[in-house]
Amino acid sequence: MTVAKFGGTSVATADAIRRLVRIVHQRRDVRVVVVSALAGVTDLLVAMADAAEAGRVQEARESAERIRERHRRLAADLGLPAVAADNIEQVAIGLGRRLDAMAERRDGRLRRWDEVLAVGELLSSRIVASAFGDASGGADWVDARRVMVTDADHTRAQPLMAETRDCLRVRVAPLVAEGRIVVLGGFIGATIDGATTTLGRGGSDYSAAIVGAGLGASTIDIWTDVDGMLTADPRVVAGARLVPNLSFAEASELAYFGAKVLHPSTILPAMAQGIPVRILNSRRPEQPGTRITAAAPAGAGPLRALACKREIAVVHITSTRMLMAHGFLRRVFEVFDHHGTVVDVVTTSEVSVSVTVDDARAIDAIVAELRPFADVTTDAGMALICAVGEQLREQHHLCAEVLDGLGGLPVRMVSQSASRQNLTIVVGGADLTTAMTRLHDRFFPPVAVGGAAAPAGAIAGCGV
Ligand code: ASP
Ligand code: MG
Repeated sequence: MTVAKFGGTSVATADAIRRLVRIVHQRRDVRVVVVSALAGVTDLLVAMADAAEAGRVQEARESAERIRERHRRLAADLGLPAVAADNIEQVAIGLGRRLDAMAERRDGRLRRWDEVLAVGELLSSRIVASAFGDASGGADWVDARRVMVTDADHTRAQPLMAETRDCLRVRVAPLVAEGRIVVLGGFIGATIDGATTTLGRGGSDYSAAIVGAGLGASTIDIWTDVDGMLTADPRVVAGARLVPNLSFAEASELAYFGAKVLHPSTILPAMAQGIPVRILNSRRPEQPGTRITAAAPAGAGPLRALACKREIAVVHITSTRMLMAHGFLRRVFEVFDHHGTVVDVVTTSEVSVSVTVDDARAIDAIVAELRPFADVTTDAGMALICAVGEQLREQHHLCAEVLDGLGGLPVRMVSQSASRQNLTIVVGGADLTTAMTRLHDRFFPPVAVGGAAAPAGAIAGCGV
């Protein structure tokens, strides 16, 4: 049994929803469909709630009207029966009331936010369920608020797994057992007391993973608008191609470099239960996609992907006081912490430490604060390259091969952790394209002519 999640762009238009229905019908194993709000709707709901709270009631009302109109038009384009339209009306009227309440009252603020945010998935899931029509028995809409049980941490609620599993067993599993298709909204849930909650922005993937884990699915499919993860950023390297298989740890390493496809933590519930997650393109369903599993699949090449990031700043900190002293690193990192600056790569020797940051806004203040106890220099315009692959752990020559693959380009920093599923290298920004191209040619040699078509619009080993 497969749980299939469709993101905002995969439900945004009548054509997209027809494609969704076709995909689900063609894959008999898909029994549960989790959907996001139509692309852009959650953003609009956020702006609307902001406006309502700030007392800009007219603006909020206009946004509500736009949302209602967009869903009404979608239902009409799909030729849906009046029940669907009635539903949209009801939800829209409820939305209007909530906005008024938001303008008037301050108590229970985040609770109200969740009631407004939930509207996107409530509407999209209703429409998608209706779009299955009556052919082959249609689909059953299930209110995700009666299935996804969460704590009361509004706007970023955490699921209560045991309770959610019980609800899935009672409200979803029997329908699945009868061979029905069940449609529910992602992102939303409710507390045990029935207050509507949401799981945090982008939470539909999380919903799908929780539902899949709770039902013991064999696969979770994440349908989106890119083909999957790529071997490199195609804007940097010509000939980047799809990564067919990836371990969870590898996917997490790549995510830092711009993963918009999915946030690795959202699929943890699936990984914990050994359920593979596939990323698939709803516009090109014939493409194989990328499959993420808890452990690294065997049989792939030595590296899985090359990620990169431009506009990195390096801070070199040297102090003879560091020699044999304890507490030095703590002092250094406290300075970065003060300024809310995230440190990404760190290398140390006995008397120096170098770190990279990709948000250099506070760099001058940081340097000023470090100067009293260390010599500090900075290099702006550097670039990070990250070679990812669990074989870096076993194949001891691989690290040397990666460095050799740079063909003598100057290396500013090198970092490999004990877990060794990645090797991170800092090079000058001007050398990035050459470095990436050399490494890609070496570890991902071009496929024979007539091979796979270029994958659609994904970046940095990840999607746009
Ligand atoms: N609609 C929600 C959001 O935009 C959840 C999701 O799409 O995953 O954040
Ligand atoms: Mg999304």
